[in-house]
Amino acid sequence: MPVTRERVDPQRDQSELGLVHRRWLVPDDVRRPVSLPQLARLWRGLIELGVLSARDEVRLHRFGGQPADMPAPASPGALLAGAGSASLVTQVVWTDEEGRRDPYALEGEPDPEGFRDYTLYAMDGPRLLLPIPPAAWICSRCQKRSAPELPRFGEGALLDLETPLCACGGMPDLETDRGELRSGAIFLAQELCCRAALSIELPRAPQSEELPDARVSELLREAFGSTDELEDDEVPPAE
Ligand SMILES: [Zn+2]
Repeated sequence: MPVTRERVDPQRDQSELGLVHRRWLVPDDVRRPVSLPQLARLWRGLIELGVLSARDEVRLHRFGGQPADMPAPASPGALLAGAGSASLVTQVVWTDEEGRRDPYALEGEPDPEGFRDYTLYAMDGPRLLLPIPPAAWICSRCQKRSAPELPRFGEGALLDLETPLCACGGMPDLETDRGELRSGAIFLAQELCCRAALSIELPRAPQSEELPDARVSELLREAFGSTDELEDDEVPPAE
């Protein structure tokens, strides 16, 4: 019997905190092109390695549309068909499933045991993903600070490079605008956004800071080049 996403919620609700750990793996340079074929290869590779389940469904969501479930083998092709838009594909798997590969496994044991929620974000067209949306935006043209309402997408937010973000009419400038996180830390916009991201949600933080699985790391490097990792600890699980 196929296992679907519905299996997730009752089990997650039993966890003591109800909070999860999310790790964002992103290309370390927002200017580096990441093509849809590269991302489709990465997602197919994760299926072939057994990180994802080939037998279960994958949910595809295109920004502005309704999420749709499809058989996993069809999902790399669906990613490829997302030219010009922001898309995500996501699947929840469990480390105790037969043949499942945990990229954070240590000495062959899952770390930690439990669910993995994998989501690959593919930004084609004028939008970029902000994995950790800033609370405020500081425009480099007029120096004003604002709190723009950025559209949510998956667990992040979207930045449209062709729409003014500030009341002065200035378009977002990745090299000179700055974003302020809830923590108060301020970063250049280019350090906050990305053209692609793989998020991995787990019940708690794995012991390894970087992916210990060499084959999964290699797949990721082929698609993203060098990567940065952002951590979101003790956050509510993805919807
Ligand atoms: Zn401005």
